[in-house]
Amino acid sequence: MKKLFPTSTAGSLPKPTWLAEPEKLWSPWKLEGKALLNGKQDALRVSLQEQTVAGIDIVSDGEQTRQHFVTTFIENLSGVDFENKKTVRIRDRYDASVPGVIGPVSRQKSVFVEDAKFLRSQTDQPIKWALPGPMTMVDTLYDDYYQDRKTLAFEFAKALNEEARELQAAGVDIIQFDEPAFNVFLDEVNDWGIEALERATEGLTCETAVHICYGYGIKANTDWKKTLGAEWRHYETTFPAIQKSSINIVSLECHNGRVPMEVLTLLKGKKIMVGAIDVATDTIETPEEVAATLREALKYADADKIYPCTNCGMAPLSREIARQKLQALAAGAEIIRRELAD
Ligand SMILES: [Zn+2]
Repeated sequence: MKKLFPTSTAGSLPKPTWLAEPEKLWSPWKLEGKALLNGKQDALRVSLQEQTVAGIDIVSDGEQTRQHFVTTFIENLSGVDFENKKTVRIRDRYDASVPGVIGPVSRQKSVFVEDAKFLRSQTDQPIKWALPGPMTMVDTLYDDYYQDRKTLAFEFAKALNEEARELQAAGVDIIQFDEPAFNVFLDEVNDWGIEALERATEGLTCETAVHICYGYGIKANTDWKKTLGAEWRHYETTFPAIQKSSINIVSLECHNGRVPMEVLTLLKGKKIMVGAIDVATDTIETPEEVAATLREALKYADADKIYPCTNCGMAPLSREIARQKLQALAAGAEIIRRELAD
């Protein structure tokens, strides 16, 4: 029988201090050239080992080879100027220095495929690979060329699809698209966001996932969350259309937030990566707290559809804390497995 409640992470994990400055987004690399290539590969090995030892079932590269979950992919496309970065407001929330679109965008070469092949060679466990979603990409740069978010999103979707097909061929089991922008631009999600996502997954036979969260545990995000009121009902607006889409898995934030768990009923038939670890605090969840979140999810979704996960990526946390949170996630899932077996 297939293992119930397979655990995974939303994506990024902290990098070793010899590779990049810790607890920082867009942290510059500490190595160069060949040493950097080797260093990234070693970091991927370490990250995989930490996930395996913690008891994580669906493993990832921990995003060790990329500086940022969105810009690293964008910087590998043609038509993008990453020398002349500009400061723009992203997710309607914080300013960041980002690359710009200055001509037709296209993917001339693989971005993560070699890394995915390497991860595949290191483990027999199912692997998940994260890519940025088209809407979140559009929202993480400036556009001096298309000057239309939807048009640009579909150009990105085409490039993502090329990458995704190669990742699938490299042996990736689940390809996940990160769309934190889906919790901000709710009308656009329904107008073209989901359609663009489906364009990115066209022709894939592996499983596909969309990760929709309230962002990393950085100050701009935690401040934003304070303005969102007693109940966060963003998912309620977008899940009905996502439920009708061809995407197989939805990854969402559930622990410590103000998301009413009833929203899970809007995802009938989908697999759900239930965020049971808060990435915005250094407090380590107890296995029992993880189990409580999963028990709550079980009220609204079938056991075979629930995949315990983290709320978001853990790149900004310290390695020690991330490690302990992974252990808590695995232990919490085990509590629920035993409960159900009894
Ligand atoms: Zn996230």
